[in-house]
Amino acid sequence: MSQLDIHQIPVLSDNYVYLARDRASGQTAVVDPAVVKPVLEAAERLGWTITHILNTHHHGDHVGGNLEIKAATGCTIIGPKADRDRIPGIDVEVEEGDRVALGEAMAEVFFVPGHTRGHIAYWFEESAALFCGDTLFALGCGRLFEGTPQQMWSSLSKFRKLPEDTHVYCAHEYTQANARFALSVEPENQALQDRSRAIDAARAQDRPTVPSTLGEELATNPFLRADQPGLAANVGLAGSEPVAVFAEVRRRKDNF
Ligand SMILES: [Zn+2]
Repeated sequence: MSQLDIHQIPVLSDNYVYLARDRASGQTAVVDPAVVKPVLEAAERLGWTITHILNTHHHGDHVGGNLEIKAATGCTIIGPKADRDRIPGIDVEVEEGDRVALGEAMAEVFFVPGHTRGHIAYWFEESAALFCGDTLFALGCGRLFEGTPQQMWSSLSKFRKLPEDTHVYCAHEYTQANARFALSVEPENQALQDRSRAIDAARAQDRPTVPSTLGEELATNPFLRADQPGLAANVGLAGSEPVAVFAEVRRRKDNF
């Protein structure tokens, strides 16, 4: 059993880049390097040697540091097979069900299209860590730039089955705005009200609200709760299929 040490690096206006180091081997991955300098500096300060880049999708604020970090470290870039032409410097193409080894730590790959057509996520089961890019956010989900509500609901449904103690390492600090929206569609949700207050307190002290746990998300994130009758009723779709409720919640968020 091998576990990861995970270091969170806030960059740009609201992105999070992660360094994940396998304790057993010292191999270290950068997850979605938006930028170069803060990532190399953090690795240097920690004494961690970057051996891999794990990309979730092709957006510039997730792959922007790929080529320079590869040039500086000689690392191996792993990314989505379905989007290989849009991942700079990709060495290893992965898809649903593939396993990615970081030293002795092992990740399972989920294909989770919706935000983009090639989006993937990495689940390190032994470390209870999910690197989900822009698919699932704390109290939110990614915009559907290249996918349908059906695809995104099906992608999120893969995450819904994971253990509740899974830590959700998403790629943006959007939580406070997401909480305001979530309360607009589920105002009676007590767990959401409590979480929203805790988020306001954390942000007032400039503390991150990420990672959250999947258990928290299942209890409060409307995009994971499209099968809840109360939420369906709140958006005028009592008795509808979850995917229809999901689509309506996503549409409302786009216009919030
Ligand atoms: Zn994105």
